[in-house]
Amino acid sequence: MNIEKLLRDNIRQLQPYSSARDEFKGEASVYLDANENPYNAPYNRYPDPLQWKVKEQISQVKDVAQENIFLGNGSDEPIDLLYRAFCNPRIDNVVAIEPTYGMYKVCAGINDVEYRKVLLDENFQFSADNLLTACDLYTKIIWLCSPNNPTGNSLNRKEIIKLITSFEGIVVLDEAYIDFAKEESFMEKLSKYPNLVILQTMSKAWASAAIRLGMAFASTEIIAVLNKIKYPYNINILTQKKALTILKNHGQLKKSVNLILKQRTILINALHDLSYVLHIYPTDANFVLVKVENPTTLYQYLVEKSIIVRNRNTVSLCNGCLRITVGKPEENKILLEEMEKFGI
Ligand SMILES: *Cc1c(COP(=O)(O)O)cnc(C)c1O
Repeated sequence: MNIEKLLRDNIRQLQPYSSARDEFKGEASVYLDANENPYNAPYNRYPDPLQWKVKEQISQVKDVAQENIFLGNGSDEPIDLLYRAFCNPRIDNVVAIEPTYGMYKVCAGINDVEYRKVLLDENFQFSADNLLTACDLYTKIIWLCSPNNPTGNSLNRKEIIKLITSFEGIVVLDEAYIDFAKEESFMEKLSKYPNLVILQTMSKAWASAAIRLGMAFASTEIIAVLNKIKYPYNINILTQKKALTILKNHGQLKKSVNLILKQRTILINALHDLSYVLHIYPTDANFVLVKVENPTTLYQYLVEKSIIVRNRNTVSLCNGCLRITVGKPEENKILLEEMEKFGI
């Protein structure tokens, strides 16, 4: 696996921006190096460009070395940076499962990179061979998402491993929902696969979508590339401080995840009793994909009742489907009451 060779030439040759904070890293008493205003501490100072304190905590919680962690402004940032690092616009392409999370395609569009979709099967599973068939010499990245959004299921582990070991480019495995899943994360396999990038986020199980903190885990070589091309101060000090308190309090995560998983079972059982519910797909995430008789009428009815779910009716293989996030007990109760009324 030669990551260097996969890179775009301009990125390989790039001389990155060197900030005042990069040049002097120790502790000093007088800082006159960055043209900061001396007043209004601590917000007057540029934040740590590599967020070492946050990474130290993540390293403990996730049992991964700090050098294998990249932090971004949501997962969206590493998604975009991976295109910018590896894909020559109008020349290279990427391959992705379909349906899946929309940002992989949007970022391909922004970067003028061809996006090749390979349809999942009727169980929302993929075959490594099918994805590899869609690849050519110009395929730089394959996008996987497990548990997948909007389908909710975990992808087959054997196929994931087969793909990582046979593809000679980057495989991105988006684990945004992994803390809700029965399946184990691929994190412990990270050192085995130099072409694997795992994405996780503070936005779902960590209950902190507002602070915008996405995590990418990969070989030191890939992490170094992302660090080289990111904006120098991509994670602001408010986010870094808040992330530290959330991570130090990580006992909370299991509690809220368990609460949500219990509510998910209650929600699924109640949905089963509705006559117009045609199918509830198995889920490993904090949402359920539900096939109903009149998706758009139901969606509109719920909007009128001030309840918003996601209409996925026009998404590939999701004909007739709404995606419902598991909320608080009282929120799920309100949803179910209205859905029962809609049936009458
Ligand atoms: C919600 C979600 C994310 C999170 O994105 P952020 O930018 O970190 O908020 C990433 N991937 C998938 C598949 C998601 O559904």
